[in-house]
Amino acid sequence: MERVADGVWLLRGDLRKGMSVYFVEEEGGGVVQFDAGSKSMTKAARAAAEQLGGLKRVVLGHAHADHRGTAPFMGAPVFCHADEVADAESDASLAPYMDLSQLPVAPVRWIYPFLLRRWDGGAVKIAGTLAEGDEVAGFRVVHFPGHAPGLIGLWRERDRVALVSDTVYLIDSARLRALPEGEASVPHPAWGWDHAQAKQSVRKLAALEPAVACTGHGEPLRGENLRETLERAADKY
Ligand SMILES: [Zn+2]
Repeated sequence: MERVADGVWLLRGDLRKGMSVYFVEEEGGGVVQFDAGSKSMTKAARAAAEQLGGLKRVVLGHAHADHRGTAPFMGAPVFCHADEVADAESDASLAPYMDLSQLPVAPVRWIYPFLLRRWDGGAVKIAGTLAEGDEVAGFRVVHFPGHAPGLIGLWRERDRVALVSDTVYLIDSARLRALPEGEASVPHPAWGWDHAQAKQSVRKLAALEPAVACTGHGEPLRGENLRETLERAADKY
């Protein structure tokens, strides 16, 4: 586990350590898990939560298979945005709006249904919902719709830390490889619910002027010019 900000821990796992799960320390002890990675991370995530004083709840950044994988097995109530409840509680490993035919590379197009099923932990019972402005472990919930309708991030003003799930990608999901160091991109439209809103949400994140953006896949994005990096990211795809 890697400490990425005050009281915030990152656990990376699965394919090329490409899946990120975050644990945020709560004032009275214990942690909140933000995003649930893939199913194969269950043992490591349970051990991490135990080591950090016990798991209070799981918050899904969104309900995609590679973000809900450990959630059914963590022994804690699971929360998400109201617009993700139906997908979180569904058995389907692909969201109904995903259109893999838009992916330009044929082998990548073919392998994703298999990967998504392998990453998925299946349907998750949602205990409650979160909306923009709600407070979670000293962070504020921000709605970043687009890649998924109810995608949410967590934002902490005092040190400008943003946990953003798949609001931005540091990977090229259409080619299954990392983007060059320091680059970011709006997720490929093949995955998205509403691509125009996804771009708007990347701009909304840029306007917060984060010092660090902790994403669903890859090392946290840091740097002096994060606002410009994110504004450029909104225009890719
Ligand atoms: Zn996603």
